[in-house]
Amino acid sequence: DSPLRLRVRSARLGTRFVLLLAEDRTESFRLDEVRRDFVANISHELKTPIASVSLLAEALDQAADEPDQVRRFAGRLSVEASRLAHISSEVIELSRLQARGALRTDVLLRVDEIVAAAVEQNRVVATAKGIDVAVKASSKAEVYGDRSLLVVAVHNLIANAIAYSSEGGRVGVGAKVVDGAVEIAVTDQGIGIEADELERVFERFYRIDQARSRNTGGSGLGLSIVKHTVQNHGGDVRVWSQPSRGSTFMIRLPLAEPPIEASDATGSPTGD
Ligand code: ADP
Repeated sequence: DSPLRLRVRSARLGTRFVLLLAEDRTESFRLDEVRRDFVANISHELKTPIASVSLLAEALDQAADEPDQVRRFAGRLSVEASRLAHISSEVIELSRLQARGALRTDVLLRVDEIVAAAVEQNRVVATAKGIDVAVKASSKAEVYGDRSLLVVAVHNLIANAIAYSSEGGRVGVGAKVVDGAVEIAVTDQGIGIEADELERVFERFYRIDQARSRNTGGSGLGLSIVKHTVQNHGGDVRVWSQPSRGSTFMIRLPLAEPPIEASDATGSPTGD
């Protein structure tokens, strides 16, 4: 316990303290960067439809005497307005999901019912594109969760499968129980995804080909919402894909165990 040893210890403590502080700073810098990116991305995504809206409003004003032009501009104005509404609702949904930790809910949901609702929501778009959506979800499996969030997640996968398929394509939606989990898979025979893009498609605002994706009217937030929703439910999402052949996205959720009957709880019937 000489003064020298004491000094060394306090110096060591000092170094450790500084190091901890430095690590903490790095983490907060990283979070700041993530937040800055998110805001920059939102601003970027909103700029185009906002600019279109003001240009169209101007054009509308100048074309007041030409009913055909007015109708055309009004139609495009309404498309841009729904695009803005869609992006803002997805941004809000995503921020809510990210702010919330794991979801605690005791609401039991039938998986086949969630799948049916998500398929139904895509019916009109699928029909318009001549795409047949085949459903194979006979399992009566149940999960605990938030119904509307889970329907949105499955909906987003089906909407993508339709959007990235050519006219007359086929989309399959299946649900089954495997090893205590429910697997909901959405398969298409569309354009597919290159191997090096597979991880990135779940990132916020990530689109493989900006021009191609913009034609589909997407925001690049759909899969990010799927990922966060599924993670909040204690599950995960995976993807398999081959360019020009198609893709399969699979959501896995923990299966809700059936309640243990009183007779089971008091011991096994065989007495061992
Ligand atoms: P978007 O709103 O652009 O569809 P998503 O987050 O849903 O955004 O998807 C991110 C990107 O991943 C899409 O822009 C698209 O390039 C690609 N992608 C998603 N689903 C599929 C699919 N089923 N087939 C091919 N590419 C897909």
